[in-house]
Amino acid sequence: MKIILLGAPGSGKGTLAKKISRDFDIPQISTGDLFRAIVKEDSPLAHKVKYIMSSGGLVPDEMTVELVKDRLSKSDCKKGFILDGFPRTVAQAEALETISKIDTVILVELANEIIIERLSSRRTCPNCSEIYSTEDNPEEVCKKCNTPLIQRDDDKPETIKHRLEVYETNTSPLINFYSDRLFKVSSAGSPDETYRPVKTFLEKLEAKN
Ligand code: AMP
Repeated sequence: MKIILLGAPGSGKGTLAKKISRDFDIPQISTGDLFRAIVKEDSPLAHKVKYIMSSGGLVPDEMTVELVKDRLSKSDCKKGFILDGFPRTVAQAEALETISKIDTVILVELANEIIIERLSSRRTCPNCSEIYSTEDNPEEVCKKCNTPLIQRDDDKPETIKHRLEVYETNTSPLINFYSDRLFKVSSAGSPDETYRPVKTFLEKLEAKN
């Protein structure tokens, strides 16, 4: 199954993607994670991407599409994949049409006030990308690999507002673009509550294909 997760930053796409990946045995492809890996290098490209990411802007389409195209050509994507954070512009969605057929687009919906609360308390493991909240992990150490957690630069309050504006302007038009393949889910409840209807939907879709 080839799946896109659409939704504002902080709506819970990453958490949902991990559950789908585990149960349906397909890789989660997070362009944010791919870019965070690039940023760890010491190159002019890494510095450029780091600057864009920390200000909450979007990496240019051409570079993003190339990165995804290369990742989707790997053998683990043959059976399917979950795109988490891509496409983020109509130009990226148009480019993706020429790379791969997409079975379904899951739109994760959450009110901006809750997103701001959740992102402000989000902590990320810099080693394995596991996501926590300061409420459920006050020690701020990764429960999987014991690495001290960090707050991403772009999860700081001043950048969150900008990221939500970027989503509204550049990414929300994709809701229309994919209106023929859209499954909507609210992520206002717990991660398991969010996942339940998605799992049922994907199981039915898988049985049909
Ligand atoms: P994320 O982890 O998905 O919130 O992504 C973190 C940051 O990486 C974004 O704020 C962008 O700067 C960059 N990024 C991730 N995915 C894309 C994309 N599809 N297009 C452009 N920039 C992206």
